[in-house]
Amino acid sequence: MKNVAIVLAGGSGSRMKSKKKKQYLLLSDRPVLWYSLCAFQNCPNIDEIILVCGEGEEEYCRREFAENYGFAKIKKIVHGGKERYHSVYEGMKAAGSCDYILIHDGARPFIDERMLERIFAGLSDCPACAVGMPVKDTIKMRNMEGYVEQTLPREKLWMIQTPQAFSYPLLLQAYEEMMRREQTAAEQEGSTVKITDDAMVVETVLHIPVKLIEGSYDNIKITTPEDLALAGALAEQYKIKLTEK
Ligand code: C5P
Repeated sequence: MKNVAIVLAGGSGSRMKSKKKKQYLLLSDRPVLWYSLCAFQNCPNIDEIILVCGEGEEEYCRREFAENYGFAKIKKIVHGGKERYHSVYEGMKAAGSCDYILIHDGARPFIDERMLERIFAGLSDCPACAVGMPVKDTIKMRNMEGYVEQTLPREKLWMIQTPQAFSYPLLLQAYEEMMRREQTAAEQEGSTVKITDDAMVVETVLHIPVKLIEGSYDNIKITTPEDLALAGALAEQYKIKLTEK
């Protein structure tokens, strides 16, 4: 059995409006990316980590994460692509064949051991699993004029997080088919749907059900400066938990 975690850090982070990319900013003295890398390094079910960074950042990441912090499970560091799903595809090619693949946003530092255990338990009866949490707010769809188009049934809504985990052959098949469709759409100058997570690729391309696994309300994605303040308040306790290992 070989399981690989792909940690994505290839985004530009433009919504953070900071000179340094958000994945390298410090939280309680450790880079944002350190937290999830440490969780995967500590997880007995993960054999290898593939880190996907921005173009030209490979050497920095190798020195910082593979050497300085000594994350020995990092086997390859590759640069990503234009959109998140291009970066995932680069990571999958670098990973090569394995049993299960976990895709994780490096901008989500606060994953924990229990969550990873729940994911692997989920994989034992479904080859496609994504973590998330029930929404707390009422969610409405807004029309172009800024009025409510529809109120969605809150009891059915979940906000989706990462890690998302899949059998490798299944995810590869879904991505290869999506890349083919993207190519055809580009040739025909058609528009493609915006892909925002990996479960969506499996749902829309292969029509395979994706199992939802309980994530955590701490599992925030650091996107804007306000998120950094919240992350700063959570960082110390996660750092302590991770380094107790
Ligand atoms: O842009 P978004 O917030 O959805 O990005 C989620 C994660 O995907 C981040 O960790 C980001 O670094 C990564 N990403 C990437 N390559 C891109 C865009 C985003 O690796 N082209």
